[in-house]
Amino acid sequence: VAEKSTQPSEGRSRIERLRFSFSDLGIDALVVSNLPDILYLCGFSGSAGLLLVEHSRSTLFTDSRYTFQARAEVSEARVSIVKHGPLAAVGSALRAMRGRTRVGYAASHLTVEQKKLLEGYSGGRVRWVPDGNVVAKLRCVKDAGELSRMKGAALAISEVFGTTLPLIRPGVTELDLAAEIEYAMRQQGASGPAFETIVASGPRTAWAHARPTAKPFSKNELVLIDCGAILHAYCSDLTRTVFLGRPPKKVRKMYQAVLDAQEAAKQAIRPGVKAGDVDRAARVALKLYGMAAFFTHSLGHGLGLEVHEMPRLGRGVGTLLQEGMVITVEPGVYIEGLGGIRIEDDVVVTANGAVDLTTASREFFEL
Ligand code: ZN
Ligand code: ZN
Repeated sequence: VAEKSTQPSEGRSRIERLRFSFSDLGIDALVVSNLPDILYLCGFSGSAGLLLVEHSRSTLFTDSRYTFQARAEVSEARVSIVKHGPLAAVGSALRAMRGRTRVGYAASHLTVEQKKLLEGYSGGRVRWVPDGNVVAKLRCVKDAGELSRMKGAALAISEVFGTTLPLIRPGVTELDLAAEIEYAMRQQGASGPAFETIVASGPRTAWAHARPTAKPFSKNELVLIDCGAILHAYCSDLTRTVFLGRPPKKVRKMYQAVLDAQEAAKQAIRPGVKAGDVDRAARVALKLYGMAAFFTHSLGHGLGLEVHEMPRLGRGVGTLLQEGMVITVEPGVYIEGLGGIRIEDDVVVTANGAVDLTTASREFFEL
């Protein structure tokens, strides 16, 4: 049975809420092209289509591969099965609209070529307006149904970490472990990994986004795992770093610094706080260990239908946190030649502050 759409069961539909921004944007219609945005708004999970939202109606344009799927999944929009591609279909729908029309489009997503085609199909009367990431802004605050799915995805990846931890031992390769992790995700009910699983060992842990290789783990080195699962369309994202053997003092200190930085950031999270201030809280904590210079990326990112969503938690970001946002908190320190340590959890912003969704232990495991 197809998972019924991700629509909330109560209150205004997402498309209705989207229409509230039409006057701010000065638009009469919006062409939604980013597939996760389409899934969010009307429930369609297919891999090709465009959604045209007008004042009084919405239409999903897709092709005959998705006739039955669209019928089963889509609510809040009528479905139009097109023969010559959705761009042409949206274009002629716009051409048929009366008078001059202002139409929003996803400037950060549509390609130059797609935009040109749309312009050609829709004729000269349409005035194109960048959509200001309006759907992404709606998506960053999760409703109760979304939060329960995200909790499930976070729990699943935490379980995966627990079950694969005993497999980390000398001789096992980074690729072996990555394969076991992704297999365990499926066993937890995931439809797949949310991104390419990262497993790095030894000095390679200093590469923040290392791809797993055929390198076997050896004694007395760090192993860093960054993995996420998609469950019921929602992503999780978890990083843990462990040590094979007894870690030297310096490495122990690095771990404590990262853990403190993560805790300081979590303590700083509450509605109304600037994303940049949460990032700064982590850097201030690392400074006490003299390690702020080794934290070379931003603190975290929004999480949902995609693994990287709004808001970004980085230096100087002015976005205010809101209740219901789901974000990652992932400070790290990376020292060339020695290795890197990162600890990442997914949290939801509540009136009382950050609440962890991921449940994996943050203890520094010595294996
Ligand atoms: Zn991650
Ligand atoms: Zn992340």
